[in-house]
Amino acid sequence: MRQWMDAIVKPRAGVGLELRKVPIPQPQAGEVLVKVRKTAICGSDVHIYKWNDWAQAHVKPPQVIGHEYVGEIAALGDGVTDFEVGQRVSGEGHITCGRCRSCHSGNIQWCNDVIGVGVDRDGAFAQYLCIPARNIILIDKSLPDEIVAFFDAFGNAAHTALTFPLVGEDVLISGAGPIGIIAVGICKFAGARRVIITDMNEYRLDLARKMGADAAVDIRYQDLPTIMKEQNLTEGFDVGLEMSGSGAALDQMLSTMRNGGRIGLLGIGNKPIPVNMNTVISKGLALQGIYGRTMDNWHQMSYMVQGGLDLSPVITHRFHFTEYEQGFQAMISGRSGKVILDWA
Ligand SMILES: [Zn+2]
Ligand SMILES: [Zn+2]
Repeated sequence: MRQWMDAIVKPRAGVGLELRKVPIPQPQAGEVLVKVRKTAICGSDVHIYKWNDWAQAHVKPPQVIGHEYVGEIAALGDGVTDFEVGQRVSGEGHITCGRCRSCHSGNIQWCNDVIGVGVDRDGAFAQYLCIPARNIILIDKSLPDEIVAFFDAFGNAAHTALTFPLVGEDVLISGAGPIGIIAVGICKFAGARRVIITDMNEYRLDLARKMGADAAVDIRYQDLPTIMKEQNLTEGFDVGLEMSGSGAALDQMLSTMRNGGRIGLLGIGNKPIPVNMNTVISKGLALQGIYGRTMDNWHQMSYMVQGGLDLSPVITHRFHFTEYEQGFQAMISGRSGKVILDWA
């Protein structure tokens, strides 16, 4: 007999989502069934909600969306022997091929043959979720559910920030979305001297201040070079983390980096972003594209939280899953950090 669950579904091409009864998935060989406890809404979920070009290219309705979650193992598929029912888990949202050169070298984030949970297949905004056992991450009991719910996004921030040595460095983060705000906390935790973040959203800049930003700059009204002087930056930023996907923000970053500085690029633009190569060359800058997370980032995240990194200021809204529409509206308004949905 089929059993049913509640799920937030992209029902058809077009704007919006729908709460539906769908069959509880059955774990296939090598898969694990996870009973979802809490989820977090990601920017890409908002893209799916709005049905932008990227969403149209990936999502095939009707489909359960969502990929940021914490839960517990409810059942094991055939051949899965190294986990137990009841263990608290999250999961890597990219299902990779395991056979290509990137996978073999441990760089699953560069796999060419990647399937996105909640994007290319059914996701986590549901009472149950099925994923391959190798994507399961065991979660220590010391870690709060609400924080683990957005480890996926935390992982993007950790991947970008921890690509570079940060001790004593001056860091510019462009883009105070939730990932940029989390990156502020990571950079301060990892020993950066000054962390300055730019955006045009005062609400989110304020969250970045709560996460420890030395300056949170509204570039509509404030001049970044002036703020740099106030913060005692004499030669420019050592490290830049581009998290906005804005060409203007990247331009400003290039112009305020010190010679030999290093930049991580995480923000994807709606259109191709031109880069001022003359500045890159004359300053000897190194630009590194960042995608997804490494599996090691999952360990780093747990250890940073256990070591005292407090990400609770990033959470601004909590809703029951039946109130998901309010959660998405909070995200769309720009007046939110992470929005948590409770599946109890
Ligand atoms: Zn996400
Ligand atoms: Zn691969």
